[in-house]
Amino acid sequence: MPTEEIRRQVVIIGSGPAGLTAAIYTARANLSPLLIDAPADTERQTTPGGQLMITTDVENYPGFAKGIEGPELMAEFRKQAERFGTEFLEAWITKVDLHQRPFTLYTENHVVKAETLIIASGASAKWLGIPGEAKTPHGFGGNGVSACATCDGPLPAFRNKRLLVVGGGDTAMEEATFLTRYAAKVYVAHRRDKLRASKIMQEKALRNEKIEFLWNTELVEILGTQADGVNAVRLRDTNNGQERAMEVEGVFIAIGHKPNTELFKGQLDMDPVGYILTNGHSTATNIPGVFACGDVQDSVYRQAITAAGTGCMSAIDAERFLDHLPVEMPSGEEVTIEGEHITRDRRLIIEPDGEVISNEPVFE
Ligand SMILES: Cc1cc2nc3c(=O)[nH]c(=O)nc-3n(C[C@H](O)[C@H](O)[C@H](O)COP(=O)(O)OP(=O)(O)OC[C@H]3O[C@@H](n4cnc5c(N)ncnc54)[C@H](O)[C@@H]3O)c2cc1C
Repeated sequence: MPTEEIRRQVVIIGSGPAGLTAAIYTARANLSPLLIDAPADTERQTTPGGQLMITTDVENYPGFAKGIEGPELMAEFRKQAERFGTEFLEAWITKVDLHQRPFTLYTENHVVKAETLIIASGASAKWLGIPGEAKTPHGFGGNGVSACATCDGPLPAFRNKRLLVVGGGDTAMEEATFLTRYAAKVYVAHRRDKLRASKIMQEKALRNEKIEFLWNTELVEILGTQADGVNAVRLRDTNNGQERAMEVEGVFIAIGHKPNTELFKGQLDMDPVGYILTNGHSTATNIPGVFACGDVQDSVYRQAITAAGTGCMSAIDAERFLDHLPVEMPSGEEVTIEGEHITRDRRLIIEPDGEVISNEPVFE
């Protein structure tokens, strides 16, 4: 295949809520963004539109009083981004070179040069890979099985029901504690006899009367019918290998998330899990001109509205950077597109050649 070279002021990776919001803003700012997103691929679990494409009811996205289906919400996001002239390219990005601007991105058939890059490649929930866990109709995913308690816990399908949470870390403790607001009973299955969760999270869960811990227990199968969803699980004792069935009406897999950041390893600063580091005041990364928004830089909130909010921030940060205005870096310094660094206390400007000048206002 011939390789086509594309050059853009703004390139966005990912068409979830973060990437599409960044597209809406940068397109309205006349920056003609190019948004690149991976094609639908069942094996690698990607769908243009991101994680919300695999869910049904979204009840907590503001502006939709009656709720909206995930795919319908993402279709609206996309139409809005198209309306202002966003260009879309469906391709896997296989390599990036962020060592100099313009940054270079490679797909199978394209080399893309970007003056600014907005990374919105999201995160993926980790799954166990057991029978019954796949998305309906192949399993009960979206029909009694979920990986997000904040998203799905309040849905009628889980209210006043017996639920099983799988995991022993902070995510599992948080999800189990949250679910006790709605559920009749929450079981937590953990493979060991000790939790990995932090002390404070453990204590909250262990004190909660609605939670019962199933120690040395692993989930091996989720059972039910397509008409009525989950009705039981098969569990295995990790000490003696014995299996038993237990009745529950819902399962939450809470064994963590994996940010989609393999591509950027060794170039962008990340936390130990692989989330890209930004500092909260802006979406700048350690490389001037590269911004990150949505779940790829957020291990805490992981919601569509927060992803969209940081997508807006990334767009405004990229606009400022292209307008030669300073943007705050994770270190607290500010940088400009010319390579000027403004110190954290805003008193000094360090020029690209190392010359230091005062940033104090001059009064005549
Ligand atoms: C089952 C489920 C239900 C949920 N329900 C709710 C809910 O009710 N309310 C709510 O607020 N939140 C919900 N969430 C969370 C919400 O979906 C996420 O917080 C949100 O989608 C994050 O948006 P994002 O744009 O950061 O990333 P994502 O939505 O993850 O999108 C990232 C995109 O980047 C693409 N990508 C990744 N790597 C590459 C690459 N190398 N090349 C090209 N493209 C790439 C992916 O294909 C994907 O399309 C739910 C999540 C799940 C899994």
